[in-house]
Amino acid sequence: MLIWGNKTLFKTLSEGVFHCPRCGVARAYRQRLARRWFTLFFIPVFPYRTDDSHVECTTCKGTFHDAVLQPSATA
Ligand SMILES: [Zn+2]
Repeated sequence: MLIWGNKTLFKTLSEGVFHCPRCGVARAYRQRLARRWFTLFFIPVFPYRTDDSHVECTTCKGTFHDAVLQPSATA
C-alpha cells in the first residue's frame, strides 16, 4: 500500500530588517518561498508547485508582498 500526500515547506530566501506596515516600526523579517511537495510515505519526493515569495515579520508574524522591501513602497 502506498501512502502519498502533499506538504508545504518553506524556504528562507533572505533575512534582514524592514519597516513593518503592521508594527509601524523597523522589525526583522524573513523572505520566504512556499513550495508544495508531493510526499510518499511522508517523505517529500519532489516539488510540484512553487508559490510567490512573501515577507514575514518575525515579531507580529504578519505576511506581506515582496514590495514592502522596496524603498519606493515606503516613501
Ligand atoms: Zn510586524
